[in-house]
Amino acid sequence: MSLPTEKDLERCNCSRCPSFIAGDTKLYCVHGKSAKKPIEKGCICRTCPVHVENALKGRAFCLRGQAKE
Ligand code: SF4
Ligand code: SF4
Repeated sequence: MSLPTEKDLERCNCSRCPSFIAGDTKLYCVHGKSAKKPIEKGCICRTCPVHVENALKGRAFCLRGQAKE
């Protein structure tokens, strides 16, 4: 596993997720929890190329905090 970085923002799928709040930052696996306090309505992190390529553990990083090694 490796950790994603800011350069992965363009490939982040969060804006297509039902839990995403419009205008929020995305890339929560790097930035950590959303300050907008989203409600989980599903998470599509595991379909995201950033998640797959970095073999990330976990999901719903907007609620649970950034990805860890
Ligand atoms: S793993 Fe989730 S938070 Fe990270 S880039 Fe992909 S969709 Fe965004
Ligand atoms: S981290 Fe997961 S649950 Fe949160 S907005 Fe991104 S895809 Fe959706």
